[in-house]
Amino acid sequence: MTAALLLALALPAGALGLRAEPSPARPGDLLVVTVEDDGPAERLSLTAAGRVLPLFATGPGRYRALLGLTAESPPGPVSLVAAKTRRWRRPLESVLSVPVEARPFKPQKLTMAPEKASLPSGPGARDAVARIRAVAAVDTPEQRWDGPFALPAEGRLSGPYGNPRTVNDKPWAWHKGLDVAAPVGSTVTAPAAGVVALAGTYPVQGGTVVIDHGQGLMSALFHLGELSVKNGDEVSKSSPVARVGGSGFSTGAHVHWGVYVHGAAVDPEPLLRRGP
Ligand SMILES: [Zn+2]
Repeated sequence: MTAALLLALALPAGALGLRAEPSPARPGDLLVVTVEDDGPAERLSLTAAGRVLPLFATGPGRYRALLGLTAESPPGPVSLVAAKTRRWRRPLESVLSVPVEARPFKPQKLTMAPEKASLPSGPGARDAVARIRAVAAVDTPEQRWDGPFALPAEGRLSGPYGNPRTVNDKPWAWHKGLDVAAPVGSTVTAPAAGVVALAGTYPVQGGTVVIDHGQGLMSALFHLGELSVKNGDEVSKSSPVARVGGSGFSTGAHVHWGVYVHGAAVDPEPLLRRGP
């Protein structure tokens, strides 16, 4: 019998339903947390690893929260606490511990022309990162995606998520997305439905489109050529948003697809098989 099941059996009658998928989880996973309770939504809260996450209704008495584990999430349990405030009594709580297994990531060596390699320390680079981070951390209540996501371009997966990298033998940030190699000028599409939260061109990311899928889930597409959407446009799954460009801090023609959950970069690949 698992520890989680033992814990569930030990809970008093009337306890909140609480479960999470996948379990065990791995670094890079998007955890879908479900809370079940008949009471009013405003009395419910969910805390994950000490952070309060927004809950969104998915049906009568059922609520969902998304938690992003990054490639840097340490192995070990993640503690989830669902709570319901009650008049005159202590809050009702359910606790769930989700095991996180170790996940090895393969180091990747990149070689880049010096003028490209110096872009992250060049003018405007820091401001652009701050702006994209701020946009990617916004929560809008409406769920706009429906089911599994689609690759943003037709092509070979050329760079997996999570790799620790070196650029010209210098240690670099780990890879916060999935790269799809595709010829310059080919069509880049929305991985899922949403609203364009940011469309612009920046020194490192190059042509950029950030799509808000709702409820804290975002896609960021980098290194694009010509953009065909602007801020505020509604997009549907697989509708064109840009052309492949290979712009910015990039070693060749590809699309970088990042997925952010409340600002945490998760692995996009599992979303191709199963929507959150
Ligand atoms: Zn990339």
